[in-house]
Amino acid sequence: MGTGLIERLKIVKIIIAVLAASLMAMPNALLASTPTIELSEAEQQWLQAHPSIRLAVDIDWSPFEYVDDDSNYVGMAAEYINLVGQKLGIRFDIEKEKPWSEVVDAVKKRELDMFSCVVATAQRREYADFTQPYLSFPMVIVTSDQVAYVNGIRDLKNETVAVVRGYATQDLLEKDHPNLDLYLADNVADALEKLSHGKVYAYIGNIATVSDVIRREGLTNIKISGETPYSYELSMAVRNDWPEFTPILQKALDSITEQERDQIYRNWIKLRYEHGFDYELLWKVLAVVFLVIGIILFWNRRLSREVARRIEAEKRVQDAHHRLEQANNELVSYVDIVDKHVITSSTDVRGVITSTSDAFCEISGYSQQELLGATHRIVRHEDMPESIYEDMWSTISSGKTWEGEIKNKKKNGGYYWVQAYISPNFDEQGNISGYTAIREDITNKKLAEALSVTDELTSLFNRRHFNNLFPQEMARAEREKKTFVLMIIDVDYFKPYNDNYGHQQGDNVLQQISRVLQETLRRAGDFAFRIGGEEFAVIVTVEDAADAVVLAENLRASVEALELAHEHNPVGPVVTISIGLKTHHCSGDQSAEMDLIYRLADDALYQAKDNGRNQVVEHGRADVIGKPAAATS
Ligand code: GH3
Ligand code: MG
Ligand code: MG
Repeated sequence: MGTGLIERLKIVKIIIAVLAASLMAMPNALLASTPTIELSEAEQQWLQAHPSIRLAVDIDWSPFEYVDDDSNYVGMAAEYINLVGQKLGIRFDIEKEKPWSEVVDAVKKRELDMFSCVVATAQRREYADFTQPYLSFPMVIVTSDQVAYVNGIRDLKNETVAVVRGYATQDLLEKDHPNLDLYLADNVADALEKLSHGKVYAYIGNIATVSDVIRREGLTNIKISGETPYSYELSMAVRNDWPEFTPILQKALDSITEQERDQIYRNWIKLRYEHGFDYELLWKVLAVVFLVIGIILFWNRRLSREVARRIEAEKRVQDAHHRLEQANNELVSYVDIVDKHVITSSTDVRGVITSTSDAFCEISGYSQQELLGATHRIVRHEDMPESIYEDMWSTISSGKTWEGEIKNKKKNGGYYWVQAYISPNFDEQGNISGYTAIREDITNKKLAEALSVTDELTSLFNRRHFNNLFPQEMARAEREKKTFVLMIIDVDYFKPYNDNYGHQQGDNVLQQISRVLQETLRRAGDFAFRIGGEEFAVIVTVEDAADAVVLAENLRASVEALELAHEHNPVGPVVTISIGLKTHHCSGDQSAEMDLIYRLADDALYQAKDNGRNQVVEHGRADVIGKPAAATS
């Protein structure tokens, strides 16, 4: 709120005080009065002796009292005087000509007998006795409307302040504020005119007359600017050489009823309202006050709503922060778990490792420093065919996820198997910025799987796995438009070997033959099986059927070249094998074909045996491949 507003509020306060004073604030003694007058014998006698009282009035002191254009004495005090006159049965002779300063002198000189309406000042008490006050109004400070607000009489220090000569304000200010430069005006109108013309800085007077004069004189450039601690307490006062009369007057005033007093005030206050000055100002000011109060209330409500909203928002932020924080903690622990247990790594677009999990380091045996900056080639196992990596790269570089089983090599030369999921990472433009691999350790699973498909003695695949792979490999060969080859291999005269060298030594021979098979069949898609006691099978896919016969002959020769002594082998002094071979271009009913192929390969084997052993026979071909038995013997 600016000064202007405070100022207005103060003025409203003043006006309300005036109204309150006017309507209600009568002296207590008066309020407690009784309507009937009980006069003593002596008092009645005194009144009879003084039927006419010379009354000193202010002829220009509206609305308290004044003489109007028709020479009637009117105003609030005038009405009280009338009532008192009626009740006491006396007549007042009113001095209607002299200005106030002169009537004061006249009372001092006993040329007039009483004041109708005066403030009881110490000076006046020297020559007059006072009734209790019957009118009360605050005294206010009036200034030019250029002055913002006067906080009190002290603010007027060293300024020229007008008062009406002889008014109580003069006495009060001279006594309490001697530093004021007082200008003594003839009357309120004179004082306010001086003020309006800038001749004086302020005027101090009671609010009722000030308002009245401002209105009547049409003074628009002055205003009520502040309060004083004083109020006009107006009494009737009697020359003090007439001590009998004051108690009589008091009795008369006391007998005035509350209704009568109300009526007097309403008469004059209403009149003022009708003239519109204070009424309009009051309502303007009240409108401003209510507006201000409204704004303050509105603002307070808004403010408290805003405060509540902010507290709520703050709480939400805190809650959210807490939840984040919680989520973050969870995330951190998830990351810890992942780091510990999931074999992950990220690379840039070229495959250079940029981050690894602890689990990756743990399983591979490499430290993070060793892995960062390297490529995954560091863990590549020679068992994994190059084609797997080619497939992987073409998948992930095209933006897809590659999934598959990979055998990796540990730093210490060991191996581990992982089920890997490798996905590209994309930047904001949607370009591949690198790759992330998540891997599951499947070494144990692979081991279990391997055990279930492996022949214990020779480490070749077992018969069960032969049964699995046979159809799979046939299907693959068909897909790849290659020739499927089945070889069935049997050791020649192995019964006599066992009988001669012992079963243990026989097992050793089986292991050595197996090693030859493993070492010869190194390509992906070459499989060797032990399908019976001393019977083996080989599955390969070849471009050309002739390649299969060459491979079989190579196997046969390699076994012979082992030179494992077998003195009871009619074919020769060393362990030899016979091979029956069937090539096949797959199409149509596979299961029927499988049985046939197996049977035809087996037929070929028996043919090889019949032909003298230590040889390869391809089913459907008349000529014997490999070293004829006769040649060895
Ligand atoms: P052929 O040239 O006609 O094949 O004569 P062969 O003696 O090898 O006859 P056959 O193939 O029928 O012989 C099977 C023999 O192989 C019986 C057994 O003594 C031997 N044998 C079978 N399984 C094993 C094995 O697991 N360990 C050992 N040491 N010998 C086995
Ligand atoms: Mg056999
Ligand atoms: Mg045999």
